[in-house]
Amino acid sequence: MHPQLTTYITLISTSGVLNLFLCLYVFLKRHNFTNVAKYFVFYAASIAIYCFASAFGLLAETLAQMKFWTIVQYVGMPVSSPLGLLFVMHYLGITLTRKRCLSLLVIPMISFAMVATNDFHHLHYKVFQVDPLLGAPYIYQEIGSWYTVHGIYTFGCMFFAFLLVLFHWRETAKVYRPQLVALLFGQFVPMATAFLYLIGVTPAGIDPVPMVLWLSSLLYLWAISTSRLFTLMPIAKDAIFNSINDGVIVLDESHRLIEFNQASKNNFPKLNKNKFGRNFHEVWLELSGNPFPLELDAWSNQEVQLATDRSERIYQVRISPLENSKGRLIIFTDITEVKRLQVQLEHQAYFDELTQIYNRRAFLRQAERNFEAAKKNLSPFTVLLVDIDHFKRVNDTYGHDIGDQVLVHVAKVFQKQLTEGEVFARYGGEEFVIALDGCTEKEAEELADGLRMHLALQPLVTEKRAISVTLSIGVAAAREEAEESLSRLLNKADKALYEAKQEGRDRVCVYMESREAVN
Ligand code: GH3
Ligand code: MG
Ligand code: MG
Repeated sequence: MHPQLTTYITLISTSGVLNLFLCLYVFLKRHNFTNVAKYFVFYAASIAIYCFASAFGLLAETLAQMKFWTIVQYVGMPVSSPLGLLFVMHYLGITLTRKRCLSLLVIPMISFAMVATNDFHHLHYKVFQVDPLLGAPYIYQEIGSWYTVHGIYTFGCMFFAFLLVLFHWRETAKVYRPQLVALLFGQFVPMATAFLYLIGVTPAGIDPVPMVLWLSSLLYLWAISTSRLFTLMPIAKDAIFNSINDGVIVLDESHRLIEFNQASKNNFPKLNKNKFGRNFHEVWLELSGNPFPLELDAWSNQEVQLATDRSERIYQVRISPLENSKGRLIIFTDITEVKRLQVQLEHQAYFDELTQIYNRRAFLRQAERNFEAAKKNLSPFTVLLVDIDHFKRVNDTYGHDIGDQVLVHVAKVFQKQLTEGEVFARYGGEEFVIALDGCTEKEAEELADGLRMHLALQPLVTEKRAISVTLSIGVAAAREEAEESLSRLLNKADKALYEAKQEGRDRVCVYMESREAVN
């Protein structure tokens, strides 16, 4: 055997062993690795087959043996480059559907079939013979038309994988760069060798690619052991950009649209890449039908109500300069739901759920303010405490639901009689409270009596019957003295109410200081 041949076989076997090792190692540790490892296992396996078959091919002594090992080589070699491409794509976060992955393997499968049946059609090799000068295992071949297809495809896959890695270089964080170097050269080494082989620079009669594949394997081994290829992987910035829930729009220094993410597209469906390079104000007018409401050159953070095709929504819009450039960043956070919830919570905090009038907390807050203002202006201030008479009987007789309806009915009747400045609330249970601003004791008493009589004339009419209830009302007017407070006033009104109940209900009682003194 030629000493040269021994060197070739040694190199090729080394490539085979290293790839087999890589394949088994990654396969056995696959549970600790990301999904990308799966593609690598197939990739390394295909290369191992290619290398071993190639090594055995160099031991061939007859044409039949050479043909046989070439066919075995074609089990691994044609699929290795699309598998390498798939591995690189998944590594970079470019995922393909299963169908597309499989479609990448169609040409390699045809290539295998072509080589296996070449003697019948000579489409892959026009001529495939023992080299007349060098003898076996050197091959003299003339390539056929399918070989060209196969060659372009194989080379194309490697080249494309190489370019993908190259284009992701800039946007990949430095810690991952060693991994990228491994991927880049892992693809470059066989690609460059295949290229040299195709242009006839390498030793005749022998495929030199498997002789250099050990180099790629060492690079992968290095990347796996030192920079944790398969456990730590960069996430493409595009993927991050598009997975942000907020709409992000990027403008250049002249306010031209240069980038937007998927969330922006979801929020503003008319946004598309054809609008790149156009002035943002124009683009916005098309998207929303209105001028953009904020100043683009200033820092801002504002709530903005925007009408889009879908609905009226509220956004928190933040505008800021882009770091290291004069561009602008506009971030839209959809706060419609938060706002809706806020309004709902505020409503729940201050409104009675059943009657939808103010609750006690809202009453105290508002009446306190009015009372302080009245004190300052020396204007009269009165409160009315209203209690439904024998309300328990309503519940007991007609049921709790009807009781509820009565409460709603009373609130409605009162609301119709009262004006806006009068603070009216459900004080609790079947009690209501009214704070009257600028109303004297006498006027308050009249108003209270008016309310009482009004309700007496308006029973609640249900399907089965009309239910009327009577009211007892306690009235208390603020005294012009420093210690007077809303809580004292309410206390006095409560006493007056108690008196009204004592005196037989269905009446209005005014709190009298003198009577209190007697009691
Ligand atoms: P009085 O004339 O002395 O005020 O008698 P009353 O029966 O109205 O007074 P009491 O304080 O004994 O009963 C008040 C009742 O109001 C008891 C309670 O079950 C009922 N009540 C309180 N809140 C509600 C409510 O939200 N819905 C209904 N249906 N009933 C309520
Ligand atoms: Mg009561
Ligand atoms: Mg009552």
